[in-house]
Amino acid sequence: MTQGSHESSQLSVLCIFAHPDDEAFGSGGTLAGLVQRGHKVTLVCATNGDVGEISDPALATPENLWQVRQDELRRAMEVTGISDVRFLGYRDSGMDGTPDNEDPSCLFQAEPSKVEAQISDLMAELKPDIVFTHDPTGGYGHPDHLVVFDRTTSVIDAMTEDRPHLYYVCFPKKNFRRLWQDMIDAGITPPFAKEDLDNIGSPDDYVTTVKDVSAYVEIKRESLSHHKTQLDPNGPFSAIAPDIMTAWMSTEYFYLSQPKGGDSQEDILVDLI
Ligand SMILES: [Zn+2]
Repeated sequence: MTQGSHESSQLSVLCIFAHPDDEAFGSGGTLAGLVQRGHKVTLVCATNGDVGEISDPALATPENLWQVRQDELRRAMEVTGISDVRFLGYRDSGMDGTPDNEDPSCLFQAEPSKVEAQISDLMAELKPDIVFTHDPTGGYGHPDHLVVFDRTTSVIDAMTEDRPHLYYVCFPKKNFRRLWQDMIDAGITPPFAKEDLDNIGSPDDYVTTVKDVSAYVEIKRESLSHHKTQLDPNGPFSAIAPDIMTAWMSTEYFYLSQPKGGDSQEDILVDLI
């Protein structure tokens, strides 16, 4: 491939997620594939994951977790091949209904217009062809996921020219059910109750685009491994047999959100990796 044709086919890809590690499981393989094909990927993280779990007290304290997670994300993205990693600087809002939702510096409390202005600036600077973000359910309803979905969608739906292809990263409900069953079959106690399965994950019919990322699963796994504070070696996910985990990590699911007015967009992700 000549330099010229490479440049003309290079796409700008912008990921906007709420927390360091939100990129990992649902889109890490696709991002690795896009990087390997020469596309330019920028990862934007709206919060620093300040109130996440700490798997091992030797890794971080509640006070410095935000810095540790920023470093974890940078290292993870180095593995994936993404050097442009940015933070919008908000405090993690915590799980729904927790006192962290009320912190004035958290994303949940931020003026929508301020967040949208930050996202608009990114659009103007990077002129993305593709944007990845959280789906309308937020995966499992995390307030920060829902805010990032909402603000990003508002900005893109208001764009009259150069509207990027907007892809929501999905975690289909049927997969949560299968994962739950896989865990039961393996004698592992799932992290969610059977009754909760109705309330987590994306409706199965959201999915427009399924990507086989098995070629990138090793990169994805190594990248994910840098989110050490979030990986509990004694937790249910660590107990899953490696081959079953590889199978789970080898497919990623997306929902191409079409413009509200005007022509519909082609699903360009289908042929990209
Ligand atoms: Zn998250």
